[in-house]
Amino acid sequence: MGHSAGCPSEVKGKRKAPLMLTACRNLSRTFLPLTYRRLCTRGSWTHQAALSTASFSPLFLPHSHIFLTNQATSALLNSSIHSHIFCLSHSTFSSGVMELKEVLQVLEQLAPLSLAESWDNVGLLVEPSKPRPVKTILLTNDLTDAVMAEAEAMSCDLIISYHPPLFRPFKRLVQKDWKQRLAIRAVEAGIAIFSPHTSWDSVKGGVNDWLVGGLGSGQVSVLSEAKGDASHSHKLEFMAKSAGEVQGILEELKACDSETTLQHAISRSDSSGIHVSVTCSDSALTPSVQTLLRHNAPSQSLCILKLEKPPLPGHGQGRLSILDQPVTMEMAIQKMKSHLGLSHLRLALGSGQTLESSVNSVAVCAGSGASVLNGVKADLYITGEMSHHEVLDAVAKGMSVILSDHSNSERGYLAVFKERLAVRLPEGVTVAVSKTDRDPLEVV
Ligand SMILES: [Zn+2]
Repeated sequence: MGHSAGCPSEVKGKRKAPLMLTACRNLSRTFLPLTYRRLCTRGSWTHQAALSTASFSPLFLPHSHIFLTNQATSALLNSSIHSHIFCLSHSTFSSGVMELKEVLQVLEQLAPLSLAESWDNVGLLVEPSKPRPVKTILLTNDLTDAVMAEAEAMSCDLIISYHPPLFRPFKRLVQKDWKQRLAIRAVEAGIAIFSPHTSWDSVKGGVNDWLVGGLGSGQVSVLSEAKGDASHSHKLEFMAKSAGEVQGILEELKACDSETTLQHAISRSDSSGIHVSVTCSDSALTPSVQTLLRHNAPSQSLCILKLEKPPLPGHGQGRLSILDQPVTMEMAIQKMKSHLGLSHLRLALGSGQTLESSVNSVAVCAGSGASVLNGVKADLYITGEMSHHEVLDAVAKGMSVILSDHSNSERGYLAVFKERLAVRLPEGVTVAVSKTDRDPLEVV
C-alpha cells in the first residue's frame, strides 16, 4: 500500500480519486466479463491454476446486487472449475509463450483490478505498439533505474511493478523526470508495464494475508472490507394509477438508462394505486427522477433509496489476526525478522508493555498503514511506516508497533506471487523476482 511517489497515508486515509484515474478504472471493469468468459481448463497447468484460484479468488458480480454467502460462493467457484473450458482464442501457449492479453487475463484471475482502491492507478500502464509474445516476466516492488537495467539485460517482455511507476498525470514525456525517463525506456525497449498495487493488498491471500501470516496462523479478519461493483446504485419507489401509466413510465425510464438493464418490480396493487420500484445506475438517477416528477402520482409518492454495494468477504485493506498461539513480543520480533528477511526492525513498545508481554492479536497493513490501523484494537501493529505522532498515539493506547520501512513490508510477497503466476503460465515463460529491487532506506 502507498505509493513510491509519496503521500501514501494521506491518499489512503482520504480515499480521494485523482481525475486521471477514471479511464483506468473503466478499463479494469471491461476486463471482468472478459475474464469470466475465458476462464476454463485445458492442459495440466491450467487445471492446477483453476484449483489454486478457488482458494482465494472472489466471485465478482459486477452487474448484480446479489450477494452470495461464503458457501454459495465456493460452490459456484467449484462448479465453474469443472464446467469452464479455457478458451484463449488466439492462444500461443502451446508454443510455450503467451500473448500479453493472455497474461493480463491470468493476472486478473489472481487479483481482480476492481479490488484496487478508487484513487489507485492499477493495470496495464505501458503497452508496446508491436505485440510480441511474453517469454520473460520480471516482478518488482518498485521500478527504479536499476530494475529497468535488469529488465533490459534479461530481454524482459513484461515488468510487473507492485507500486505503479506512473501515478500522477503528466503532460510531456521528457528526460529530466526519472519516472518519465523509465516510461520512455520501457516504450523504446518494447517492454510492457503492469501494476497491481492495492488489488494485491486487498485480495484474499494477497500481500496483507501474507504479512499477517508472519506471526503464525490465527483467526484473520479484514480491517476495511472490500465492496463489490454494483451497476444499480439507487432504488426509486413510487405509485402509479393504472397499469397503462406504469407501462408508459417504464418505457420513459428505459430511455434514461442506456448503460444498464432497468430492473423493476410491481410489488402490490391496492386502492391507492400500484406500488412500483425501479433500480437504476448512478448516471441514470437524475434523468429518471426528472421523468417521474413529470407524472402526477409518481411525483407525489416518490421515494429514493441508495443501495449498498455487496461486501466481498475476505477481501479488503488491512488484516487483524487473533493468533492461534500467542507469542511474546520478543518472539514476535524474531518471527517477523525471519518472515521479512530482515536483520533489523523498529519497535515501539506500547504503554505498560515489555518484551515479555504476550501478543494475542496483531493488526497489519502493508506499506504505510496508519490510516487503516487507526482505532483498531490489537496488542501489536505491524506496518512499513508510520509518522512519529501516529506511533505516539498507538503507544499511548497500549499498542506496540513494529515498523519495517515501507517496501520491506510488501516485497516478500513477490516470491509468493511468482509461484502462483508460474503455475498458470506455460513452461516456456520465465517469471523472475528482481535482484536489484530494494527499499531505498537501510540501517547503517
Ligand atoms: Zn506501498
